Amino acid sequence: MATMESLIGLVNRIQRACTVLGDYGGDSALPTLWESLPSVVVVGGQSSGKSSVLESIVGRDFLPRGSGIVTRRPLVLQLHKTEQGLQEYAEFLHLPKKRFSDFSLVRKEIQDETDRLTGKSKQISPVPIHLSIYSPNVVNLTLIDLPGLTKVAVEGQAESIVQDIENMVRSYVEKPNCIILAITPANQDIATSDAIKISREVDPTGERTFGVLTKLDLMDKGTNALEVLEGRSYRLQHPWVGIVNRSQADINKNMDMIAARQREREFFVTNPDYGHLASKMGSEYLAKLLSKHLESVIKARIPGIASLINKNINELEAELNYLGRPVAIDSGAQLYTILELCRAFDRIFKEHLDGGRPGGARIYGVFDHQLPAALRKLPFDRHLSFQNVKNVVSEADGYQPHLIAPEQGYRRLIDTALNYFRGPAEASVDAVHSILKELVRRSIMETQELKRFPILQAELAAAANEALERFREESKKTTLRMVDMESSYLTVDFFRKLPQEVDKGGNPAVPSADRYSEGHFRRIGLNVFSYVGMVSETLRNTIPKAVVHCQVREAKRSLLDNFYTQLGKKEGKQLSQLLDEDPMLMERRQQCAKRLELYKSARDEIDSVSWSG
Ligand code: GDP
Ligand code: MG
Repeated sequence: MATMESLIGLVNRIQRACTVLGDYGGDSALPTLWESLPSVVVVGGQSSGKSSVLESIVGRDFLPRGSGIVTRRPLVLQLHKTEQGLQEYAEFLHLPKKRFSDFSLVRKEIQDETDRLTGKSKQISPVPIHLSIYSPNVVNLTLIDLPGLTKVAVEGQAESIVQDIENMVRSYVEKPNCIILAITPANQDIATSDAIKISREVDPTGERTFGVLTKLDLMDKGTNALEVLEGRSYRLQHPWVGIVNRSQADINKNMDMIAARQREREFFVTNPDYGHLASKMGSEYLAKLLSKHLESVIKARIPGIASLINKNINELEAELNYLGRPVAIDSGAQLYTILELCRAFDRIFKEHLDGGRPGGARIYGVFDHQLPAALRKLPFDRHLSFQNVKNVVSEADGYQPHLIAPEQGYRRLIDTALNYFRGPAEASVDAVHSILKELVRRSIMETQELKRFPILQAELAAAANEALERFREESKKTTLRMVDMESSYLTVDFFRKLPQEVDKGGNPAVPSADRYSEGHFRRIGLNVFSYVGMVSETLRNTIPKAVVHCQVREAKRSLLDNFYTQLGKKEGKQLSQLLDEDPMLMERRQQCAKRLELYKSARDEIDSVSWSG
């Protein structure tokens, strides 16, 4: 059965994990799990003894203490109770691999880490230092040490520091789950206590404030703090606790914690004013009091925490699904995965062509619009102008003008005209090529499963584009051959059906000189024009056939064939390289998985506690 103590430990572990995972604080809309869990914050004026109190709760010396502004960054201190007999150690979040068992080094590291952000100055920084202590001698607790409240900026500090510290402190204590340890030195009038002032502001009913009176040993002779300790000066819901920490002289003499606690106990037992309160005074009692309070707070919060945990689990599972499961290790499974991914891509690519997804219609646009427009724009007017026809025909005739029909002239005019068709033919091939290329790009983007594998994505894109390039070459050859075929053999019928000029002239007696008149050449031009028009009509229909045959159909049939062949030759290591993931994504998945594991174990533990009543 889970005990309350283990539950506090669990809360602690969750908080610890939240910090490691960077969930600490944060400004997400959901209150983070961290903030829904209680933590204890120490507040008070500078040198009121905050760090000393924390240390004696922990029972170890490890915090920088002294006069002046010593604590200059928040210290988030998590105490984890370990099993009896285990070695005690401390660990910083910023030095995750290093275990400190010498606590004087912990103190030094806190100082150094503070200086790293603020310099060796009297500046402060709101960025917390996270420290965990694992020990059989601590109670499970999260404690936060803060810079002390001050009244004036001293030499070397910005004027704003008084306000800055107050704001920092307020940002911690105003959280409803924060338990406030309000520290006031006994040798100062309670009415002037900074700690009480700020805690009253954020916790007017005093239900989450613990009043702590330090320096009882420093009170003027003949005075005592009974008015405060017995709750008559300032009432809180929880009893006041008096403390005697080590003085600066004790610290200088290296008085150890055991001796200090012993002396504190003696102080209360032997003091005639406090003897009757002795069992409810001192650091050890304070630690127990806090831990008990924490228990009741956690008990009350369990339903809320549980539902928050469940919400987190759902979110994480959804995210993990989106990120995909980790990749298999053996190469057979890897090959299978790669093939599956390729197929997923191929499916999407085909959907684009076949109309399940947009894009395929643009290919039809090339045939229906671009190609006919290009054909219409061919400069046959210029080519078949009277002047050009005359030049070409006369040149073809040579010294002997043609007698009946200018056979050679026709051939040359037609040959040159047909050559013009190469342009639109090639342009159609290129246009379809770039549409296919774009569809490959889009299909890769749209293949969700591929997103995690940037290397495979790139290789796939390269292989597909290489294939498209081959199809384009093939398609160009074929369409250009079709154009060439048109000039290799002219359609005889067309010329048979041409009306003979003599008939048309109507007058057989026309002198042969007329044969070379303007009308004659214009007729030749018109005849060639209408032949070329017929060819254009044919090509307008056959070029699309060739393009679809060579490019579109091939893309659908064998886009990745070469890639598959290469894949078959790859060794295990090359295969796993293909499945290398984006490191950011891998890390994200790892984080999600870690968090999920944590939340799940938290849920299990919480379930068992709530069932066991
Ligand atoms: P903080 O600034 O509030 O964290 O205070 P520190 O814990 O650093 O203590 C400031 C100084 O007051 C140190 O020199 C401590 O030794 C001294 N001090 C703290 N508590 C007591 C106490 O109960 N009795 C005596 N005599 N000195 C104390
Ligand atoms: Mg301090």
